[in-house]
Amino acid sequence: MHLKSLELHGFKSFPDKIKLTFNKGLTAVVGPNGSGKSNISDAIRWVMGEQSTKNLRGAKMEDVIFGGTQMRKPQGFAQVSITIDNSERRIDMDCDEVTVTRKLYRSGESEYRINGNHVRLKDIHEMFMDTGLGRDGYSIIGQGKIAEIISSKSTQRREIFEEAAGISKYRYRKAEAQKQ
Ligand code: ATP
Ligand code: MG
Repeated sequence: MHLKSLELHGFKSFPDKIKLTFNKGLTAVVGPNGSGKSNISDAIRWVMGEQSTKNLRGAKMEDVIFGGTQMRKPQGFAQVSITIDNSERRIDMDCDEVTVTRKLYRSGESEYRINGNHVRLKDIHEMFMDTGLGRDGYSIIGQGKIAEIISSKSTQRREIFEEAAGISKYRYRKAEAQKQ
Protein backbone atom coordinates (compact mmCIF):
# COMPACT_ATOMS: atom_id res chain seq x y z
CA MET A 1 0.00 0.00 0.00
CA HIS A 2 1.43 3.38 -0.92
CA LEU A 3 0.38 6.92 -1.59
CA LYS A 4 0.04 7.40 -5.36
CA SER A 5 -1.10 10.98 -5.65
CA LEU A 6 -2.38 14.01 -3.86
CA GLU A 7 -4.52 16.69 -5.50
CA LEU A 8 -4.95 20.07 -3.88
CA HIS A 9 -7.31 22.85 -4.90
CA GLY A 10 -7.80 25.94 -2.77
CA PHE A 11 -6.08 24.30 0.20
CA LYS A 12 -3.98 26.69 2.33
CA SER A 13 -1.21 28.15 0.11
CA PHE A 14 -2.34 26.22 -3.02
CA PRO A 15 -5.08 28.26 -4.78
CA ASP A 16 -4.80 26.44 -8.11
CA LYS A 17 -5.52 22.80 -8.69
CA ILE A 18 -2.25 20.87 -8.49
CA LYS A 19 -1.50 17.18 -8.53
CA LEU A 20 1.53 15.65 -6.84
CA THR A 21 2.40 12.09 -7.79
CA PHE A 22 4.52 9.79 -5.66
CA ASN A 23 6.46 6.66 -6.49
CA LYS A 24 7.09 3.72 -4.21
CA GLY A 25 9.95 4.34 -1.83
CA LEU A 26 11.12 7.52 -0.26
CA THR A 27 9.97 11.01 -1.25
CA ALA A 28 11.41 14.17 0.26
CA VAL A 29 9.71 17.55 0.03
CA VAL A 30 12.22 20.37 0.04
CA GLY A 31 11.84 24.12 -0.20
CA PRO A 32 12.47 27.41 1.58
CA ASN A 33 10.73 28.35 4.84
CA GLY A 34 7.08 29.18 4.32
CA SER A 35 6.91 27.62 0.85
CA GLY A 36 4.16 25.14 1.80
CA LYS A 37 5.92 21.88 2.74
CA SER A 38 4.01 21.41 5.97
CA ASN A 39 0.79 22.43 4.19
CA ILE A 40 1.21 19.27 2.09
CA SER A 41 1.28 17.02 5.16
CA ASP A 42 -1.63 19.05 6.60
CA ALA A 43 -3.57 18.24 3.41
CA ILE A 44 -2.92 14.51 3.86
CA ARG A 45 -4.11 14.67 7.47
CA TRP A 46 -7.14 16.75 6.52
CA VAL A 47 -8.36 14.51 3.70
CA MET A 48 -8.14 11.48 5.99
CA GLY A 49 -10.64 13.16 8.30
CA GLU A 50 -8.63 15.28 10.74
CA GLN A 51 -11.04 17.37 12.83
CA SER A 52 -8.54 19.09 15.10
CA THR A 53 -7.73 22.62 13.90
CA LYS A 54 -4.74 22.55 16.25
CA ASN A 55 -3.28 19.55 14.39
CA LEU A 56 -3.88 21.49 11.17
CA ARG A 57 -2.08 24.51 12.63
CA GLY A 58 -5.10 26.79 12.35
CA ALA A 59 -7.56 28.51 14.65
CA LYS A 60 -10.72 27.45 12.83
CA MET A 61 -11.49 24.93 10.10
CA GLU A 62 -12.04 27.69 7.52
CA ASP A 63 -8.31 28.47 7.80
CA VAL A 64 -7.57 25.55 5.47
CA ILE A 65 -9.21 27.48 2.60
CA PHE A 66 -6.83 29.66 0.56
CA GLY A 67 -7.26 33.05 2.20
CA GLY A 68 -5.92 35.25 -0.61
CA THR A 69 -2.77 37.29 -1.08
CA GLN A 70 -2.04 40.78 -2.39
CA MET A 71 -2.15 39.31 -5.88
CA ARG A 72 -5.07 36.88 -5.60
CA LYS A 73 -8.49 36.86 -4.12
CA PRO A 74 -9.50 34.16 -1.62
CA GLN A 75 -10.96 30.84 -2.75
CA GLY A 76 -14.49 29.82 -1.85
CA PHE A 77 -13.59 26.24 -1.02
CA ALA A 78 -10.74 23.85 -0.31
CA GLN A 79 -10.64 20.41 -1.89
CA VAL A 80 -8.10 17.64 -1.40
CA SER A 81 -8.02 14.16 -2.93
CA ILE A 82 -5.66 11.36 -2.02
CA THR A 83 -5.20 8.22 -4.10
CA ILE A 84 -3.86 5.13 -2.37
CA ASP A 85 -2.64 1.97 -4.06
CA ASN A 86 -4.80 -0.90 -2.86
CA SER A 87 -3.56 -3.73 -5.07
CA GLU A 88 -2.75 -5.71 -1.91
CA ARG A 89 -6.30 -5.12 -0.59
CA ARG A 90 -5.08 -3.72 2.73
CA ILE A 91 -8.17 -1.53 2.60
CA ASP A 92 -11.25 -3.70 2.60
CA MET A 93 -12.51 -2.62 -0.83
CA ASP A 94 -12.43 -4.62 -4.04
CA CYS A 95 -10.50 -2.09 -6.13
CA ASP A 96 -6.84 -1.45 -6.94
CA GLU A 97 -7.00 2.24 -6.11
CA VAL A 98 -8.90 4.09 -3.43
CA THR A 99 -9.45 7.83 -3.82
CA VAL A 100 -10.70 9.82 -0.86
CA THR A 101 -11.87 13.41 -1.34
CA ARG A 102 -12.81 16.08 1.16
CA LYS A 103 -14.25 19.46 0.26
CA LEU A 104 -15.08 22.38 2.52
CA TYR A 105 -16.92 25.55 1.52
CA ARG A 106 -16.67 28.85 3.38
CA SER A 107 -20.30 28.43 4.37
CA GLY A 108 -19.12 25.50 6.50
CA GLU A 109 -20.75 22.92 4.24
CA SER A 110 -18.49 19.93 3.68
CA GLU A 111 -18.45 16.72 1.70
CA TYR A 112 -16.51 13.48 1.71
CA ARG A 113 -16.22 10.96 -1.10
CA ILE A 114 -14.71 7.53 -1.60
CA ASN A 115 -14.03 6.75 -5.27
CA GLY A 116 -16.43 9.53 -6.24
CA ASN A 117 -19.34 8.37 -4.10
CA HIS A 118 -20.62 10.61 -1.34
CA VAL A 119 -19.96 9.13 2.09
CA ARG A 120 -20.00 10.21 5.73
CA LEU A 121 -16.87 11.02 7.71
CA LYS A 122 -17.68 7.91 9.74
CA ASP A 123 -17.28 5.77 6.60
CA ILE A 124 -13.81 7.17 5.97
CA HIS A 125 -12.87 6.59 9.57
CA GLU A 126 -14.07 2.98 9.41
CA MET A 127 -12.38 2.32 6.07
CA PHE A 128 -8.96 3.42 7.36
CA MET A 129 -9.28 1.68 10.71
CA ASP A 130 -6.46 -0.86 11.33
CA THR A 131 -4.60 0.15 8.17
CA GLY A 132 -2.34 2.57 10.06
CA LEU A 133 -3.73 5.37 7.88
CA GLY A 134 -6.50 7.73 8.86
CA ARG A 135 -7.18 10.24 11.56
CA ASP A 136 -6.00 7.99 14.39
CA GLY A 137 -3.38 6.09 12.41
CA TYR A 138 0.34 6.21 13.03
CA SER A 139 1.36 6.81 9.41
CA ILE A 140 1.89 10.51 10.01
CA ILE A 141 4.37 11.19 12.77
CA GLY A 142 4.23 14.90 13.44
CA GLN A 143 6.62 16.95 15.54
CA GLY A 144 6.19 15.96 19.17
CA LYS A 145 4.43 12.67 18.38
CA ILE A 146 7.30 10.49 19.58
CA ALA A 147 7.43 12.31 22.92
CA GLU A 148 3.67 11.95 23.15
CA ILE A 149 3.88 8.18 22.64
CA ILE A 150 6.55 7.83 25.30
CA SER A 151 4.82 10.02 27.86
CA SER A 152 1.17 9.24 27.16
CA LYS A 153 -0.98 7.21 29.51
CA SER A 154 -0.81 3.43 29.22
CA THR A 155 -4.39 3.29 27.82
CA GLN A 156 -3.43 5.67 25.01
CA ARG A 157 -0.24 3.72 24.32
CA ARG A 158 -2.33 0.58 24.13
CA GLU A 159 -4.53 2.21 21.46
CA ILE A 160 -1.46 2.84 19.31
CA PHE A 161 -0.42 -0.83 19.61
CA GLU A 162 -3.95 -2.00 18.89
CA GLU A 163 -4.06 0.05 15.70
CA ALA A 164 -0.67 -1.40 14.64
CA ALA A 165 -1.85 -4.94 15.43
CA GLY A 166 -5.00 -4.40 13.36
CA ILE A 167 -7.47 -5.03 16.16
CA SER A 168 -8.88 -1.52 16.78
CA LYS A 169 -11.95 -2.33 14.73
CA TYR A 170 -13.07 -5.02 17.17
CA ARG A 171 -13.00 -2.61 20.09
CA TYR A 172 -14.77 -0.04 17.89
CA ARG A 173 -17.48 -2.49 16.80
CA LYS A 174 -18.06 -3.58 20.37
CA ALA A 175 -18.50 0.06 21.45
CA GLU A 176 -20.83 0.69 18.47
CA ALA A 177 -22.90 -2.41 19.32
CA GLN A 178 -23.17 -1.35 22.97
CA LYS A 179 -24.54 2.04 21.87
CA GLN A 180 -27.51 0.40 20.19
P1 ATP B 1 9.02 25.76 7.21
O1 ATP B 1 10.23 25.36 6.42
O2 ATP B 1 9.21 27.05 7.93
O3 ATP B 1 8.45 24.67 8.06
P2 ATP B 1 6.90 25.24 5.26
O4 ATP B 1 7.43 25.03 3.87
O5 ATP B 1 6.52 24.03 6.04
O6 ATP B 1 7.90 26.14 6.08
P3 ATP B 1 4.15 25.95 5.49
O7 ATP B 1 3.96 26.07 6.96
O8 ATP B 1 3.67 24.72 4.82
O9 ATP B 1 5.67 26.22 5.14
O10 ATP B 1 3.47 27.17 4.74
C1 ATP B 1 3.27 28.40 5.36
C2 ATP B 1 2.69 29.35 4.35
O11 ATP B 1 1.36 28.95 4.02
C3 ATP B 1 2.62 30.75 4.91
O12 ATP B 1 3.17 31.64 3.96
C4 ATP B 1 1.14 30.99 5.06
O13 ATP B 1 0.79 32.33 4.80
C5 ATP B 1 0.55 30.09 3.99
N1 ATP B 1 -0.83 29.75 4.30
C6 ATP B 1 -1.29 28.97 5.32
N2 ATP B 1 -2.64 28.92 5.31
C7 ATP B 1 -3.03 29.68 4.25
C8 ATP B 1 -4.31 30.05 3.73
N3 ATP B 1 -5.45 29.61 4.26
N4 ATP B 1 -4.33 30.85 2.65
C9 ATP B 1 -3.19 31.30 2.10
N5 ATP B 1 -1.97 31.00 2.54
C10 ATP B 1 -1.89 30.21 3.61
MG1 MG C 1 7.10 23.29 7.92
